[in-house]
Amino acid sequence: MNTQRKIENIIRGVKASDGDGVQLTRLIGSPQLTMLDPFLLLDAFGSDQPQDYLGGFPAHPHRGFETVTYMLAGKMRHEDSAGHSGVIEAGSVQWMHAARGIIHSEMPEQEEGLLAGFQLWVNLPAAQKMSPPDYQEISAKDIPVEQRGHQCRLKVIAGETQQGTKGVIKNDWVTPLYWDIELDEGGQFSDIIPEKHNAFIYVIEGALQLADTEPVLHKQELGVLSLGQHIDIQAHTNSRFLLIAGKPINETVARGGPFVMNTQEEIKQAFADYQSGNLA
Ligand code: MN
Repeated sequence: MNTQRKIENIIRGVKASDGDGVQLTRLIGSPQLTMLDPFLLLDAFGSDQPQDYLGGFPAHPHRGFETVTYMLAGKMRHEDSAGHSGVIEAGSVQWMHAARGIIHSEMPEQEEGLLAGFQLWVNLPAAQKMSPPDYQEISAKDIPVEQRGHQCRLKVIAGETQQGTKGVIKNDWVTPLYWDIELDEGGQFSDIIPEKHNAFIYVIEGALQLADTEPVLHKQELGVLSLGQHIDIQAHTNSRFLLIAGKPINETVARGGPFVMNTQEEIKQAFADYQSGNLA
């Protein structure tokens, strides 16, 4: 099989506010794209106006999935119910396995300047939803960078490239791929994605195309990709984009705010556990 990925759908997201008034764009998890199995939510935030982010994300619970924070600029202080805390700095990743439950806060560690990044929710299969919480924290310097010629550089957060650069994140359930790619004007990028993984591209800067016959994907647009093994990308201008993929879990999804389980009964239980102090 030698199938080329194409753009199936372009999502521009909806403006939303979460936490204590943090302004963001919801790209996955809105009516335009409710989910892209195993991805439940993708938020992009980016502002140099403190009123857009100072409120942060005060203490709130999660159960049933993983949250992935990737900071592009600025710093967030993280604290949780298990006594774990730290600062997520620009270029670093926090991959949190919330699983059976965690209560955490993420607050800006700055009062001015640019704060930008992404939060992705990655679902867990039923058998893992009640496993103990855990973290993978990767500082910027520990993210492998692959240089391809002089026109392309990629940070490999998760997954493995055709050239053998391996991300440090471990997740055997959806074997995710999470790449942050820079491609100079006129540059080309080709690689292989497991052919049945759902995948998308989000353009941080620039404009790109998968083939001459394909639509141009612009800054702040998310392109949902068709299934297939091969991806080719050409940059129209100096571009930076995320390429993210994961194996679909194909289970029923029941959502209730910060909880994502398989049934409404389990959602009710999560709220009950949270109210009685038994979530985390
Ligand atoms: Mn959270």
